[in-house]
Amino acid sequence: MTVILPVMNTPIRTRFAPSPTGYLHVGGIRTALFAYLLARQNKGQFVLRFEDTDKKREVVGSAEHLIASLRAIGIDYDEGPDIGGPYAPYIQSQRLDSYRQWAQKLIDKGLAYADPYTPEQVQQFREQAQAAKKAFLYRNHRPKQPPAWDGTQPLRFKSTPQSYTYHDAVMGETTTSSEVIDDIILIKSDGYPTYNFAHIIDDTEMHITHIIRGQEFLSSMPNYLALYEALELTPPVFAHMPHIMNEQGNKKLGKRDGAKDVLDYIRDGYLPEALMSFIATMGWNDGTTQETYTKAELIKRFSLEKIQRSGARFDEKRLLWMNGQFIRELPLDELYTRVSGNGQSVGHENFWPEAAAGADEAYKKQVLALAQDRLKTLADLGGFGYFFTIPSKDLSLITDNKQLKKLKPSEIAQLVQASYDKLAALTEWTPETIQAALNELLEQTGQKPGILFSLIRIYATWAPFSPQLNNTLALLGQTQTLERLGASL
Ligand code: GLU
Repeated sequence: MTVILPVMNTPIRTRFAPSPTGYLHVGGIRTALFAYLLARQNKGQFVLRFEDTDKKREVVGSAEHLIASLRAIGIDYDEGPDIGGPYAPYIQSQRLDSYRQWAQKLIDKGLAYADPYTPEQVQQFREQAQAAKKAFLYRNHRPKQPPAWDGTQPLRFKSTPQSYTYHDAVMGETTTSSEVIDDIILIKSDGYPTYNFAHIIDDTEMHITHIIRGQEFLSSMPNYLALYEALELTPPVFAHMPHIMNEQGNKKLGKRDGAKDVLDYIRDGYLPEALMSFIATMGWNDGTTQETYTKAELIKRFSLEKIQRSGARFDEKRLLWMNGQFIRELPLDELYTRVSGNGQSVGHENFWPEAAAGADEAYKKQVLALAQDRLKTLADLGGFGYFFTIPSKDLSLITDNKQLKKLKPSEIAQLVQASYDKLAALTEWTPETIQAALNELLEQTGQKPGILFSLIRIYATWAPFSPQLNNTLALLGQTQTLERLGASL
């Protein structure tokens, strides 16, 4: 067997090869991420390629959407449809000449032939096999005297069933059955190649060293290996990713399981670095107990061998938790930039409550410093409007509160009055003096913090949660605090 393109000992080149048929979900982005990490770790290249040979399934705008999604998460590629590169074009529909040339090689070797049947006839063969409870194999119907291929019939591979043993970087050593090898279509009657054929040509011509893709392609590996052999090509390294499962772990993650378009996560206030860490740790860890990873750490520590073979569970609560961790880690100025976008594109959202529109930057930063610990998503900042405007009353905060609903209106009025008087008497308004006053109030009224502090917080903010009460009141200011407490009396 002649080796045309030896791929080892060359710089690592990986690719992400989506079909522009929809949005980018977490499974797709995980494949892209792993390919990206491997390339970056080895100072290789990461390539984006669009596989758009199934024209019926193509969705307008999907290509742009995929590019925007990769950018938004921070997965940058070195070559691709929009930036070009040494092996351009990176769009399959623009590479038809290549596929024809390679197909011609197979025809010349007697390893490809025109399929003379109509789709209806092939369907009949399929039904016959079904009725006989046998697997449908086209090669059982291979025509004895196929017509010359004129480009209007499907071009099929003339296969020789045999078994292969190969090493998958994730799945381990695998031996394939010869039974499943068939005369697969290389070029369809519409002139476009099939994925099965095109990806092998592209990966070869683009000098891809590692194919990282979903495990749904595992069952086709026998046919791919047969094609590599027929084309006299050395296959690259394969790494098939286990499925991502729903939260219960009992079936493949579907749209209904809450996995959104990654751009929607960004719009909803998830940080790219949190999404990256979350996605990378779905089914991978570095063998330590570390739970979150920066991009630099991922590039350093990632390895295909540590990807677990069983399906990874998609746990959105974990993502939310992780997002909060990353938000807490951001320097205040950086966080301020992230929440203060112009709102004109994804990744530049403005997460401030409307009431903050006219507020000055220094004050907003103080609010943000208080809010930072409480934000699980950047969008949670929307709940801090009470720092900028007098909130509207929501009495359900009292009537639905287990402890507060037991108080009589007169008792509430007394407690608020006492608080008002105490806070009004303060000559210095700092978190410390306020805390001291609050502690004295507890003693004076004989109430539990769960009652007294909740009440003050509710009258000052009308929000179900707030940062620590003394800090909240300190930032609101004495005048504003008293005005709000006073309004209820
Ligand atoms: N176009 C294929 C898909 O969308 C890519 C598979 C591969 O990475 O080879 O699933």
